[in-house]
Amino acid sequence: MRRPLIAGNWKMNMTPDEAKVFIEDFKKQELDSTVEVAVIPPFVDLGIVSREISDTEIKLGAQNMCWEDNGAYTGEISPLMLKEIGVEYVIIGHSERRGYFKEDDGMLNLKMKACERHGLKPILCVGETLEEREMGLTLEKIGRELDEDLKDLSLKELVIAYEPIWAIGTGKNASPDDALYVIEFIRKKVDELLKIGEMVRILYGGSVKADNIKGFMDREGIDGALVGGASLKVNEFTRIVNFKE
Ligand code: PEP
Repeated sequence: MRRPLIAGNWKMNMTPDEAKVFIEDFKKQELDSTVEVAVIPPFVDLGIVSREISDTEIKLGAQNMCWEDNGAYTGEISPLMLKEIGVEYVIIGHSERRGYFKEDDGMLNLKMKACERHGLKPILCVGETLEEREMGLTLEKIGRELDEDLKDLSLKELVIAYEPIWAIGTGKNASPDDALYVIEFIRKKVDELLKIGEMVRILYGGSVKADNIKGFMDREGIDGALVGGASLKVNEFTRIVNFKE
């Protein structure tokens, strides 16, 4: 049985003071204990959030990391730093990193290897642009990303987020059936590559809200959601976590 995971990617939102206020409120909410919950704040908020959630079941994630452990990499954050501060999950290859910051699959493969080396759990993001979708290239694109990003790995614990790029922050989302179709392809591919098809959790991401989460979670095979904008409001995010109610 794969435990559902709802992960909130705060992106570049919330100062440390705002993060403290958010998390103090969020941890008071009654959350469905059958669902695993992770918050993924900006780096500078990780310390305060880590302290605030230390007496809860809420997990901590980071939005990115360097593939090296230390050294002359100005502006980067290493896996060792994340581990020491209590981070368990790391988003690798979010489409905003791939797009704005030109992170390519070779680089992402190194980051995945760094996760494996340090026992951090990657949330690897894959997905197609609108143009690729319209040209019928969705599976080809995602297959290529998985081949390259998962090359030479033997990870046993892995989360993949299927995030159609055209659905991120746009208010548009894939239909649950379309998402499931791609997710089933991803599961088969991960099984070919790592032999963990049944274990890998595959999330949907792209304009998930309290009002549409249930449609995705009702599909067996969709194991949770990576939530951006809607994870920034305590009430909305709580309703997403408690999608079974
Ligand atoms: C994301 O940041 O991964 C995301 C899916 O964003 P949003 O929910 O805002 O579309």
